[in-house]
Amino acid sequence: METIASVPLPAEAPQHFRFSSKVGEHLLVVPHTRVYDLTPSLAAWLDDATETRRVAELLGETAEGEAALDDVVVPSVQSLSLNVASACNLSCGYCYADRGSFLGRQAKSMTREVARSGVDALFEQADPGAPVTIGFLGGEPLINRQLVHDIVHYAEAKAAPLGLDLRFSITTNGTLLREEDIALLRARRFAVTVSIDGDALTHDRQRPLANKARSGSFAALARGIAPLLEDPGRAQISARVTVSRNTLQLRERVEAILALGFTEVGISPLRVAADQSELGDADWTPYLEGLTGLAELELERVRRGLGIRLTNLAVALKQIHRGASSPYPCGAGGGYFSLSADGKWYACHRAIGDADYQLGENGKLDDSERAAFLKARHVHAQTDCASCWARYLCSGSCHQEAGSRTPQSCGFIRNWLHFCLQAYCELSSSHPSYFAAAN
Ligand code: SF4
Ligand code: SF4
Repeated sequence: METIASVPLPAEAPQHFRFSSKVGEHLLVVPHTRVYDLTPSLAAWLDDATETRRVAELLGETAEGEAALDDVVVPSVQSLSLNVASACNLSCGYCYADRGSFLGRQAKSMTREVARSGVDALFEQADPGAPVTIGFLGGEPLINRQLVHDIVHYAEAKAAPLGLDLRFSITTNGTLLREEDIALLRARRFAVTVSIDGDALTHDRQRPLANKARSGSFAALARGIAPLLEDPGRAQISARVTVSRNTLQLRERVEAILALGFTEVGISPLRVAADQSELGDADWTPYLEGLTGLAELELERVRRGLGIRLTNLAVALKQIHRGASSPYPCGAGGGYFSLSADGKWYACHRAIGDADYQLGENGKLDDSERAAFLKARHVHAQTDCASCWARYLCSGSCHQEAGSRTPQSCGFIRNWLHFCLQAYCELSSSHPSYFAAAN
């Protein structure tokens, strides 16, 4: 991993966040996400002391073996998503990809040659000691089923002599799954993300079938995914719920998804939507209430010895426990790239056809453009984020959605992380075994 630049933090940036929970007083040291329990007298002293900032700076110093948070590092490319299909059998109004065609910028589906050369380039650039992941996206990737199957077998044959730890992922609407697809997924470490927006009524309204204007896709999805939910084999299946400003009632929707047999459900609010159904400023408070309401139910499950199914909560708790602290929200342009049907390498799958995100072609990355991309998107370079206590947990949130950031949407993020910090302190006091099991 090469360090190519440093983006200093403004001197006034907050170094700590003080909070209370049901089990006492706590301090989050912002750099490296270190959480401390405080005695009441220490908490009172920190709240008054002029030295608090200095204390937090010392507690947050980068330790040996940790990456300095100012650094812009260029990691090896470990993950490549292939935009194998430029079409979809659904017609969701909010779709960022225009059903896979990206407003005509990806008019044709990917060929076998382009996909295979992408895999070759990934394997040449990856660190063989770390996992390597190939993802399938679209449109609906199973529209180009033959290519998905071909690439899985091709990649496995190439990876075996190299001794690579090869993994796969696919994001699918679940309606086209056939027996042979299920066999392919089950037999491998396949992260399968199924886009599902809730109960049949909500889902069918948001995700109609493209060829039948009035007909929804929920029944086809439920039918398609059932065998995999029943027996996932080595695959890991999760539901991804998209929340629009019209569907803020989360509980009924999540219950309907769990009733299908999903054991992991992640929720994503729309910040940018093709049909303008993204959340507005007034929507963030009800959305937070809905999400924390769901999270409370999951925390109750942990108290009963059960697991957390809401991935937003499970991931946040894991990150806090590990002291995860990153200047980037994702691997875009770092360890992760997305290959378009015409062989161009983009930093992100949502940015196909966007020149600002194109960092290479035919397996050759442009080092200087990649460096500039990473430098510009470091969280210290984001005006609002540099002065935010949540900066290494939120990491500025998705680059694609940064333009839609508002005080209200950031207020939601900080309130949610505050909730998760409290939950973390409470659970680590009452149920430390949860974190031992999550390790
Ligand atoms: S996106 Fe908002 S909440 Fe996240 S780090 Fe930036 S300012 Fe903070
Ligand atoms: S930029 Fe946004 S959509 Fe793209 S990989 Fe990162 S988090 Fe995902």
